[in-house]
Amino acid sequence: MEILVEEFENFQDGIMPAGRGATELVTFFEYIDELVKEHAEDETNVLMNDTEILGLMRKRASILHVGLANYCWFAEPSRALCLILAGSTDADQPLIGMCDSARCPQATHHQRHRPVWAEHERKQKVFLGQLGVTRKLEGPRQQAELERTQRVLAEIDAAGADT
Ligand code: SF4
Repeated sequence: MEILVEEFENFQDGIMPAGRGATELVTFFEYIDELVKEHAEDETNVLMNDTEILGLMRKRASILHVGLANYCWFAEPSRALCLILAGSTDADQPLIGMCDSARCPQATHHQRHRPVWAEHERKQKVFLGQLGVTRKLEGPRQQAELERTQRVLAEIDAAGADT
């Protein structure tokens, strides 16, 4: 709940989430923001209104799984890339250890995740630079992974561009 409230406040300050799950999260925040504004004008039932917002926030927070490099909004097992890759979409928990947040529609990346991705980029560059002649075949795959990391970083930067 603390993380969700923090990200909602970031949203209100124009600091957006990035990643494939960002649109869904922003839509949720927009809805909550509208309710907050409506309820601020409605003084007749403040307690009931706050309870409604709190309930929606709690429901959303209950599906959040915190990864090192992303947030996982585990809304639907059938859309969880980790479960799809593992062939078990009937699970009730994501497989965080198999998370591929750059490609999963339920993942978001935030400003706090940037250092992890930046370090990952640095290591990937070092690794690419050290590939010997005998491992040159690995080059294109490693290059593609580096580009994916750089795309995530660029999206995080663009999402926080208003800061
Ligand atoms: S791939 Fe990652 S973000 Fe997607 S459902 Fe699995 S753990 Fe969550």
